[in-house]
Parts: sequence; structure tokens; C-alpha cells
Amino acid sequence: MIPVNEPVLDGNEKKYVLDCLDTNWISSQGKYIKQLEDEFAKFLGVNHAVATTSGTSALHLAVASLNLKKGDEVIMPSFTMIAPALAVAYTGAKPVFVDAEPKSWTIDVSKIEEKITKKTKAILPVHIYGHPCYMDPIMKIAKENDLFVIEDAAEAHGATYKGKIAGSFGNVTAFSFYANKIITTGEGGIVVTDDEKIANRVRWLKDFCFDKERRYFHQEIGFKYPMTNIQAAIGLAQLEKIGKVIENKRRMAKSYNEKLQGINGIITPYEDKDVMNVYWMYGILIENNFHALRDAVKSELFKMGVDTRFFFTGMHRQPPFAVKEKFPVTDYLGNCGIYLPSSSNLTEENISYICECIKKIEKKFSRKP
Ligand SMILES: *Cc1c(COP(=O)(O)O)cnc(C)c1O
Repeated sequence: MIPVNEPVLDGNEKKYVLDCLDTNWISSQGKYIKQLEDEFAKFLGVNHAVATTSGTSALHLAVASLNLKKGDEVIMPSFTMIAPALAVAYTGAKPVFVDAEPKSWTIDVSKIEEKITKKTKAILPVHIYGHPCYMDPIMKIAKENDLFVIEDAAEAHGATYKGKIAGSFGNVTAFSFYANKIITTGEGGIVVTDDEKIANRVRWLKDFCFDKERRYFHQEIGFKYPMTNIQAAIGLAQLEKIGKVIENKRRMAKSYNEKLQGINGIITPYEDKDVMNVYWMYGILIENNFHALRDAVKSELFKMGVDTRFFFTGMHRQPPFAVKEKFPVTDYLGNCGIYLPSSSNLTEENISYICECIKKIEKKFSRKP
């Protein structure tokens, strides 16, 4: 079976993990945490990075660090994985959704301003499948309306918009290091910011809000979101190779694009002229004029040893966030989108095989009346 996205642990991961075990540093104390935080901040060109348990907890800390409270509103895309909506909800604030832009699948910036109310406190753009959001207009709207910007860069480590790296635009950004992300710590995440006050607050909230003078005294409801030294050891080894991973992802996308070109009813992913897409997932849209329906494509590919996943279902269709408003682009993506195997170690033979399978499926179904 060719998996959808598997971690590749072919660098110093084992060496660094064994070092943790040999030296007995296995908790959230230990040198690899600081090294990962320092190196990741350097990679992004930002001042501060704080490692956490997951991308979701990184988002929660990011939102909580801005002191959002019940009734505040955060504008975010309807087409996203659910974690950023949950993070906003955890603080008591309310996610307010904006439909996707049909080409890049990121938040439609032309529809943000109509959602701003007196309660709006922040915009939370999500860089989708490796394609960064249109950050210039987003930062402009935020500035004009005095809003925070919280980036969700969980799917876009190393992607750029107008030459600037995703995660370095907003007040605060969350990344995920889940096993299938661009780089991984197994489970894990990191908050980054240029703002020292936000960084300090994130560190404080992350570890029970311990009082600096009086130990075991707590002024606020804190969290416990520690990354372990062992996870950070894996992350550091992963970060050493991130350039290679991104190169591989881009090579994969180029190869898929070439081989799927000209097939009726298949839309390959977009890369705006202003961005570098890191293709976390190589997703395609299967439109009505393709001979087989998306469900059939998935099950046929599975029979041929190729695993796939459907795109996200819109937030407006999730029971905790359901709203009556229509999000046609999000629904269209949710109904037509499927991602093909996208691991950074995918070979040229794998890609050729997968594209041949897709062509076979098209032929098989085109013969049916
Ligand atoms: C994966 C992901 C997250 C959550 O990360 P976890 O580490 O799984 O908690 C958040 N946002 C987006 C867009 C993601 O893809």
C-alpha cells in the first residue's frame, strides 16, 4: 500500500533520541527543547518560539495569549481542518467563517471585511495544504480595523508569500509537528512570535501559570502543554533536513502535475505567482466531467494499493459550529477534493504508477453507459 503521508526518519532522529535516554533527560526539561525552539525561530526569522504538545494546543495558546474572551469574534476560513475553530472555541470566543477562494483554496480575502463587527478581535488565516494565504490584503484589513492576526501554519512550514515565510506575518503563529506534517515530532507543535510579551504569556500559560516569586501560586487558569525532550530531539533532526523535504514535495507536485495534465475533469493544485507552495498534501479536484465519481476513484485506487483521503468538510457543516449560511466554494472543495499519496519519500515510480491507475480508472468508467 502506498500511504497518504508517512514520516521519514532517516537523519539524526535515532541518535538524538538515544542521547535523551542515555542522559536521562526525558521530560520537558532538557537541551533539545531549547535547541528546537532556537533553531525553528531562526528558520522563520522570528524572535521567539515555544514548543508545545500539538498544533491544536499551540493554536489554543496563541489565541489565549491575546486575552480573547467570551463573545469576542475571530474571522477564519470555513475550509480548514477543525483545530483552529476548536482553539477559538476553547477560549469562549466565537469563530466566524469566510468561504474559500476557488483557486488557492485559502480564505477568500474579498469576503473578510463584510464579516467584521464590533466584537471582531482577530483574523485567523490558515495556510491550506501548503499554499500560503494572501497575507498583504489580510494584514491591511487587520491594520485598518485594529485586529490581531493569528496564523495557522500547521500545513505550511517553509512556504513563502512574496518571498516572506509563512508564520512570520501575524502577531502570533501556530505550527503542528504531527506525524504527517512537513516535519514531525510524532505529536507536537510550536508557537512563534516576534512579540516578547506574547511569547512570555504563551510560556506562562503553557506551564500552569506558575507565579514567578511564589511557587505553587497561580493567578490564572493555566494549561499543561509540554513537549518532551525526546519529541524535541526528533524535531531537531527533522528540522536539519527541512530544505530537502520541501524540495522533495515540490518535485513530487511537479511530477504529478505533468502526468495528470490534460485529463478531463481533474484539477491539479494551484500555485499563485506570488507564493511558494510546499505541497504538504498533493490534492486534486475530481469534477463532474471526469468519468468516475470521487467515491469510485477512492475505492478503485485502494484496490490498486494506493491510499487517499477526501478533503476537509466545511466548518459550517460540523455540528458544534453549524450555521445556516452558505459556503459554496467550501462545499465544492469538500465534495470534489481528494489527496493523493504525498510523503516526501515518494518515488518517481510511485507517482507514475498512481497516475497510470487514475488513467485506468477513467477508461474503465468511460466504457459504462
Ligand atoms: C494538523 C493541523 C492542525 C492541528 O495540529 P495537531 O498537531 O494535529 O494538533 C491545526 N491546523 C491545521 C490546518 C492542521 O492541518
